[in-house]
Amino acid sequence: MKSHAKAIVIGGGVVGCSVLYHLAKAGWTDIMLIERSELTSGSSWHAAGGFHTLNGDPNVAKLQAYTVQLYREIEQLSGQSCSLHLTGGVMMADTPERMDFLRLAHAKGRYLGMDTELITPSEAKAMFPLMDETNFVGAMWDPVEGHLDPSGTTHAYAKAARKLGAEIVLRNRVVELTQEVDGTWNVVTEQGTVKAEHVVNCGGLWAREIGRMVGVELPLLAMEHMYLLTEPMPEVEEFNKSTGREMIGVMDFKGEIYTRQERNGILLGTYEKACKPWSPVNTPWDFGHELLQPDIDRIAPSLEIGFKHFPGIEEAGIKQIINGPFTFALDGNPLVGPVQGLTNFWCACAVMAGFSQGGGVGLALSNWMVHGDPGFDVWGMDVARFGEWATLRYTNAKVRENYSRRFSIRFPNEELPAARPAQTTPLYDTMLANNAVMGDSWGLETPLWFAPKGTEPKDIVSFHRSNDFGSIGEEVRATREKVGVTEIANFAKYEVSGPGSEDFLNRLMTNRMPKTGRIVLTPMLNEFGRLIGDFTIAKAGEGRFMIWSSSAAQKYHMRWFEKHLPKDAPGTSQVRIHRFDQTLVGLSIAGPKSRDLLQKLVDVDISTKAFRFMDFREMAVGGAPCMVNRITYTGDLGYEIWMAPAYQRLVYKAIKDAGEEFGLVDFGMRALLSMRLEKNFPTWFRELRPIYGPFEGAMDRFVKLEKNDFIGREPAAREQAEGPKLRRVSFIVDAADADVMGDEPIWAKVGGKDYGTVEKPHGYGAARFDTDGKEVRGSSAAEGASAVRGIVDGDWRVVGWVTSGGYAHYVQKSLAQGYVPAALAADESAGLFEIEILGSRRPARINVEPPFDPSGEKMRA
Ligand SMILES: Cc1cc2nc3c(=O)[nH]c(=O)nc-3n(C[C@H](O)[C@H](O)[C@H](O)COP(=O)(O)OP(=O)(O)OC[C@H]3O[C@@H](n4cnc5c(N)ncnc54)[C@H](O)[C@@H]3O)c2cc1C
Repeated sequence: MKSHAKAIVIGGGVVGCSVLYHLAKAGWTDIMLIERSELTSGSSWHAAGGFHTLNGDPNVAKLQAYTVQLYREIEQLSGQSCSLHLTGGVMMADTPERMDFLRLAHAKGRYLGMDTELITPSEAKAMFPLMDETNFVGAMWDPVEGHLDPSGTTHAYAKAARKLGAEIVLRNRVVELTQEVDGTWNVVTEQGTVKAEHVVNCGGLWAREIGRMVGVELPLLAMEHMYLLTEPMPEVEEFNKSTGREMIGVMDFKGEIYTRQERNGILLGTYEKACKPWSPVNTPWDFGHELLQPDIDRIAPSLEIGFKHFPGIEEAGIKQIINGPFTFALDGNPLVGPVQGLTNFWCACAVMAGFSQGGGVGLALSNWMVHGDPGFDVWGMDVARFGEWATLRYTNAKVRENYSRRFSIRFPNEELPAARPAQTTPLYDTMLANNAVMGDSWGLETPLWFAPKGTEPKDIVSFHRSNDFGSIGEEVRATREKVGVTEIANFAKYEVSGPGSEDFLNRLMTNRMPKTGRIVLTPMLNEFGRLIGDFTIAKAGEGRFMIWSSSAAQKYHMRWFEKHLPKDAPGTSQVRIHRFDQTLVGLSIAGPKSRDLLQKLVDVDISTKAFRFMDFREMAVGGAPCMVNRITYTGDLGYEIWMAPAYQRLVYKAIKDAGEEFGLVDFGMRALLSMRLEKNFPTWFRELRPIYGPFEGAMDRFVKLEKNDFIGREPAAREQAEGPKLRRVSFIVDAADADVMGDEPIWAKVGGKDYGTVEKPHGYGAARFDTDGKEVRGSSAAEGASAVRGIVDGDWRVVGWVTSGGYAHYVQKSLAQGYVPAALAADESAGLFEIEILGSRRPARINVEPPFDPSGEKMRA
């Protein structure tokens, strides 16, 4: 074993081998994979080997599609077969709600380049004759599904990596990780210590233990998982003979089962409600190629439904039941990327579908390590998406919930109950007493809406407008006409201070930094000129800035800030960054009476001239020391008031008492989001994501290309000069009883006009952003963007996708935001649009001016 490597990958399961292959392919050959035992000594060897492309997150779905396409490439390079069976598969709906869910998934597929098709139960049965089709109302066919040999596939990655120069060391456990002052890692193994610049945790079942070696508790948990294999079945053999085809894969949501042909019998696996974690605290090092004891009782309810839906299977004898553990993160998606707070320590773990996702994970991570950026919008699997609140026990509760709901519908207004309440503000009990329906906002309980007194504060989950509709309408109207108050503790808050803070922020942000006492809004770009943040920044004093942003992006942004901190001379501290998390909480008051209300609580003049729109000031509110921003996300006259948690009850009570005479109401997060819609304000992670440029995102006025050389300036200048390809626009939709949720296709009657190729970008690598004219991204199978190809219906064509929307209660319109080709957005003669809501195409028209207060005079009043 050599004593130094550029990168060491710990773990020889399918994920570690894929990461090794992709690193080697990207040109890093001084790399080594260290495996404790033989390859596939964790979950990988006993997997059912199924793969598919569908995922709730379209960006993860795209990386899954890449994984499937990659198998031919590694087979060719390695000479090792993956035993690929590309059979296709169906998802069966047993209720109209499930059919709505499939319609949504199918609609998304329209711009993701997926060839899914909605079919009848009888059509599904023709491809899988063991089913009793009378149990179903419909199905969705996906041709890119199948199964493979897990061990062969892992070895194919490994052999291909070796051919490219990577080294693999077997039967050698990594026992300790330490880091030198210069950042070099000491990877201490049973066979000696290796020095490395980068370490990648691909430890699968032992990923937590490897995380603990560097002081990190990764939010993942192994669950027991069972599938059974039947004896050979004559029906299967007969079908194969008569059609010349293999039976397809079937996913049955009601039974929580998946099934497919395996040799000349059937494989049937379950995601049972009575699920069971495996080794919840520590994974034993001596666990290896062994299986767990099957527990048929736990899966009996699923089997009962399964046998009813697929009667043929019940008659066949069960040859074997496999029970093995594999790991999940809280939301079922992987944990990938650099761990915030550490240098060159990378994760690729909690990959629950290694044979669907392993390739995409390897590609994104190798891009990140080699080029400093994943090249794709990988937020859905970024290790930074969970906070400190995701402790071992929290994770345990959430993973069990996620596993048991794997085949359940998640409705757009559905809040999941496990591990809640976790974090609460001092107002939590007050909000409950006010009949608030609470939601989980990055681990924090946040009021969503207030149910009428005397009714149960509970959402009726639905794809359609639901029981919150009337109450949100009242909250919005009272705020817009008088004044409302809401909790905003769930924003991210930072303080950046020190003599170098202004230069630091100027280098990171696209806008100029404000003068003392003023506020600016500013996007942040990566080196490729893509949007990676959207901030409100106030200059609190010389060398002191307060920053607010999206709560969920806190670790993601901290990681970026830390990466770009100036390297101080020893003993100096040019820039300090403090993340407040819940040590700073907030309240927002908005509406035409909000100034009169606030004036009653402060001892300074806050008249229009004395405290202008976009001013920041530290002042006592109701006797409590606070920071006040004259700005609100409602787009109305209003204020954000920030205080230490110890003062929050005092300030809230003062606002409530003083507000009585003005008709003050409480409003929740849903009313806030409804109000931002009628101002055409974008949201982070919906409209603004790393797949879009700032001009595409219509953030033009916050990008000051003429100021200093901020990160991403050159590509942004290019985007402006060449003209953005896409443009964010707002629509008024003629909706019925359901509004858009995000990810719906946008159709346009383009007739003979050509607005250029419409593509939903996934990887900015595919868009060929390069440095010094040199291509730094790209892989033949991962060309990233999915062209909205061939989806034509007469003169109509799919031209874009919705990012978010909903009902705007004050203007009483259903609104949507989304992206269409910039040329189409600019063409005033462009006629009709339609947006597909739950399978029905609803008329829509572009809405250039915000429907509420288009001139901004109320906001500036
Ligand atoms: C019953 C069952 C059915 C499944 N069916 C499917 C399916 O149909 N489709 C699908 O895509 N997925 C399926 N999976 C999940 C799939 O197996 C996992 O997604 C995948 O194996 C994860 O691979 P990995 O490389 O991350 O982890 P692992 O396979 O667990 O590999 C981790 C490796 O790291 C090594 N290691 C750990 N710590 C150290 C250390 N300190 N030093 C050196 N080496 C170390 C281990 O020995 C191990 O070999 C199934 C899993 C089970 C249990």
